[in-house]
Amino acid sequence: MRKDEGAATTSAELRAHNLARLLRAARGTATVLVRELAGRELIEELSSPAGARADVTVPRGRGRPTGVPSAHSRGPVALAIDLRDDSFTLAAFELTGRSAVLDRHEREAGSGTGMLADVAARLAIRRREFGDRVVGIGIAVPSPVRGGTMVQPTLPDWQGIDVTGLLTATATSPDGATAATGGCPVLVGNDATLAGLAEARRGVLRGYSVALHLHVATGIGGVLLAAGQPVAGAHGSAGEFGHMPLAGGHEPCRCGSTGCWELDAGARGLLRAAGLGEQGDRMLAATEVIAAAATDPGCGQALAKVAGALGRGIGALVNAQDPDVVGLSGLAAEVYQASPDAVQTAYLAGLMRFRRDAPPALLPSTLGDLGALTGASELVFDAFLTPRGLAAWRVAAQKTA
Ligand SMILES: [Zn+2]
Repeated sequence: MRKDEGAATTSAELRAHNLARLLRAARGTATVLVRELAGRELIEELSSPAGARADVTVPRGRGRPTGVPSAHSRGPVALAIDLRDDSFTLAAFELTGRSAVLDRHEREAGSGTGMLADVAARLAIRRREFGDRVVGIGIAVPSPVRGGTMVQPTLPDWQGIDVTGLLTATATSPDGATAATGGCPVLVGNDATLAGLAEARRGVLRGYSVALHLHVATGIGGVLLAAGQPVAGAHGSAGEFGHMPLAGGHEPCRCGSTGCWELDAGARGLLRAAGLGEQGDRMLAATEVIAAAATDPGCGQALAKVAGALGRGIGALVNAQDPDVVGLSGLAAEVYQASPDAVQTAYLAGLMRFRRDAPPALLPSTLGDLGALTGASELVFDAFLTPRGLAAWRVAAQKTA
């Protein structure tokens, strides 16, 4: 018996001693497990935390291990795509969430299907670069998704496109040869759902038991998260909050319904309120309207109108879902930060009276543009961090050894 254990007389002291004993045991076990993970090139112990490089594409120099586990320099990589109707971004993520944006492409005058071909071509190049480190490809798309297919995309020529099938065919054999990782999984999710998932895992919604996340771009999407998991619905397409009549309108919507919230509170609503057309980069134009709101009365009125519609809809959704907190990303965060009082006033007015004493806080995203990409990488690592995924990695690692 250690000398100090004899002094444990109260239950609090006994508890402290037991915790210390458990930690000593866990430390030994953890060291063994860390060594095994390092042997499988999943993690490695860095020479120092300050030695961590921000760029996943550059191998890090190795020094004397100090017991700080980090992503292995030859460890697993998730390739993530954020597909938008006017551009796409490709990034690489390591297990720790560290990322590097590798490609950003604007859509030229060409078609949406042409842009998907560009996506496939960039993916093939990056897959060759990272080789068998790639454990999966995650794609965030601006559409509700059923089984990998875009069922209501923002671009008409993406309607019904099976993104998983399209990219699996191209991505597994970029140059006609069999890729080292074999059937590298391609996972597709709705961009707003993935942005919410990312905020719950690594952003502003971390630690809340029930969170509502709203992502505003051309349209409005979102997700309800319970214990950090998206409530996806029976077919994976829940969270289409933009297609609810939350702002009192009556116009027909592109979705087939009428009076949809996104007609008033999305980028389209903001541009229409400012008297602008919908051609070109709508998100950029909407951001410009917000930036000009302080000096241009027309833009100021448009912002106030959209802020009111946004707040009113959030109030209705909080009445329905009873979340602890509401996360805002994309244009929702921009509108809120530019006009917090207008959003708050409409939000509180839309809440049922008993909720107004402690209204769930509105929290702008901390991940910003990386939200959907981060969520797409989480899909990949969720599939990878399973006995099956790890078993495939061991085979791949042995091949290169
Ligand atoms: Zn609609």
